[in-house]
Amino acid sequence: MAIRLSNNCLNCEFVTDDDFCRKHKVDVSPQHTCDSFSMKAKLKNENNCGNCAKFKQEACANPNKAAIGMLCSSWAPQEASA
Ligand code: SF4
Ligand code: SF4
Repeated sequence: MAIRLSNNCLNCEFVTDDDFCRKHKVDVSPQHTCDSFSMKAKLKNENNCGNCAKFKQEACANPNKAAIGMLCSSWAPQEASA
């Protein structure tokens, strides 16, 4: 089972540090999302084996190829932060 970041306001590029949606001008929470969701570029660009929860673990889908800077579709977050 691949665990992925969810497409909610917490991971959207439009949310501010105090949970305010800059696009729709409303307060939001991690329980919300909308059709305008856009993943924070920071999260998109940083995914690689080096920050995968499965790196060097039994759960890694490609243990013989995994390396810093590599990525596969089984990538899983170590933790989700705002
Ligand atoms: S654009 Fe949509 S998904 Fe993004 S923060 Fe606003 S309400 Fe949430
Ligand atoms: S190969 Fe895939 S599952 Fe293994 S550490 Fe890299 S991204 Fe994670």
